[in-house]
Amino acid sequence: LTQQIDALDEGVLSGPAVIQNYFDEFEWSERLREQMRKVFGIENFRLAQEGVCNANMDGRDIICIMPTGAGKSLTYQLPATLTPGCTLVISPLVSLMRDQILHLQENQIEGLMFTASMSPAEIAAAYNRLTASATGKNSTKKEVKLCYVTPERIGKSTKFKSVLATMVAAKKLARIVIDEAHCVSMQGHDYRPDYKQLAGLRVLYPHVPILALSATCPPDVLRDLIAILRLPLPTDGRAAAPHGTVKFTSPLYRKNLHYKVLSKPSGSVQVVREMVKYILEHHRDETGIVYCLSRADSERVAAELDAESQGRIKTGVYHAEINDKAKEELHESWRSGKVKVMCATIAFGLGIDKKDVRFVLHHSKSVETFYQESGRAGRDGKDADCILYYRLQDALRTPGILQDPDWERRTSGIIRFCLDFKGCRKLVFANYFSSSDWAEDSSRCGHCDNCTRDPTSVIESDVTLEAKRVLSITRLLHSRKIKVTAAQLAQAARGSGPHVKLLQLTPGDGVTLSSHDSEVLIATMLLERFLDKSYTSNAYKVQVYIKPGTLSRRLDEGQKLFIHLLLPERVVRNNRQAREGGGPGGKRKAAGGHPIKSISHGTGGTGGDGSEEE
Ligand code: ADP
Ligand code: MG
Ligand code: ZN
Repeated sequence: LTQQIDALDEGVLSGPAVIQNYFDEFEWSERLREQMRKVFGIENFRLAQEGVCNANMDGRDIICIMPTGAGKSLTYQLPATLTPGCTLVISPLVSLMRDQILHLQENQIEGLMFTASMSPAEIAAAYNRLTASATGKNSTKKEVKLCYVTPERIGKSTKFKSVLATMVAAKKLARIVIDEAHCVSMQGHDYRPDYKQLAGLRVLYPHVPILALSATCPPDVLRDLIAILRLPLPTDGRAAAPHGTVKFTSPLYRKNLHYKVLSKPSGSVQVVREMVKYILEHHRDETGIVYCLSRADSERVAAELDAESQGRIKTGVYHAEINDKAKEELHESWRSGKVKVMCATIAFGLGIDKKDVRFVLHHSKSVETFYQESGRAGRDGKDADCILYYRLQDALRTPGILQDPDWERRTSGIIRFCLDFKGCRKLVFANYFSSSDWAEDSSRCGHCDNCTRDPTSVIESDVTLEAKRVLSITRLLHSRKIKVTAAQLAQAARGSGPHVKLLQLTPGDGVTLSSHDSEVLIATMLLERFLDKSYTSNAYKVQVYIKPGTLSRRLDEGQKLFIHLLLPERVVRNNRQAREGGGPGGKRKAAGGHPIKSISHGTGGTGGDGSEEE
């Protein structure tokens, strides 16, 4: 077997050495398009769809990375209807399968699925149907073209394996499709242990081509995926080597999504209040998702949205702990519009197909998650808002830290993203996913928060003094072996909080940044390594504390520290009026009593939302 695999790898199972452009015309091209129109009611291919379909018809191993909502399903469903035998689709979520089967039925395509909630009798019937279809025993029924199954079943059920063996022997296993294939990698945020089992597919069925689908696949995840699925090294779909995997990526960028980061007020009640205001003002009666950081959070946020809006916002709660039946009902209410705003963890979303999601509110912990979650918005191509509510504390929340070797990188990534008031969000994503397709178009999107921001609302502030003070507080506490969290440090920096006595601080002494700005300061110091994180764990959780950073010397040696701060809208407006009015003094002094120069030393009010409360 291994030899066979190696042979496949090296391409000695031969054929002419032609470099293939899968976007060319093929003998099946006409049939593909006709079938697409007739069966799926779709007129034109989108993004890489045509290339993937061609490579699929050509029997290649394929990796296809296209954004959520781009139409990855068509890339296997359409070829499946034109290929003898059955295409096996491995999919992580039952809700996703159910959606797909419904769509197939609407298009008169024979589909089957195996889920844990089916009764033994139903499962047995499905097995019979599959075997009969493979061996051609039941000629009264149409051939099963697509069979959906969870990775657990593939890994654990010997019965399933034996049915697959029957199909392979009858040459009726056309292809194996792995949806959400990034779930195989521990590097990714969606890692699912059951996906590990899929490593065996290539060994058990060496001649069945594999199609791996994903919406987000940063380079490290992609490397993992190739290794785990034992796929031969990929070449590009526009110039594919005669053997090996063919890889397709499409611009991850979706024009109709408007990205925005907002600083989050400190109290949870205020956060919800802002959300309610936002939803009622901008998206009244429209469909949206609020992604929360934990199951408990999603329940709390739903209850508070409900209460705060006096029932005007129809909420639902969705997370991994909800039982299958309730999940189904939720999906139904969501489909039918009985639930308008789903408060959910990331468990909600893999494969949901509701087109008119007009807004997604996030509390993401990484740039990848923000990107991935926002993919659920605006699948109908119409405008949708993706708003990340952010505080430093969120980035320092620790679930995942033990499982995720990449936690550090992700944390700094999201902090940097949120403190960036200038860079186009699209370009940040491009960089982050280092997708070659983005490189061709390196222009700014023109409609994210940073592209539409009045440039005079961003000020650069010299916070070297404040940083030195924060550092000396941290050193003092550290030398006395007193642990301090980022939040406490932000308080101490302003002369308040639990360590005031010990530090003999007087309120207003020295640092007078607003609470928001002092958080920005600490976040920036973490990025610069003037401060570092340290971790302590007990049986229940890991706690993050702050200690003097490895590069803190640089501050002592005279390096300066600048941060970008946002002026409140009111101030920007007044400034603009003053400028345009051209009155004397209008240039030097900002309206609203905010002399711009002194802002670095904390007249406050520089928080993104102008909020000052603790
Ligand atoms: P993905 O799996 O990439 O997130 P889906 O396969 O679920 O996306 O497709 C999203 C939606 O786009 C589906 O409703 C599908 O019918 C539709 N769709 C797919 N391809 C096309 C196309 N070429 N033109 C128009 N609509 C399409
Ligand atoms: Mg999909
Ligand atoms: Zn932009």
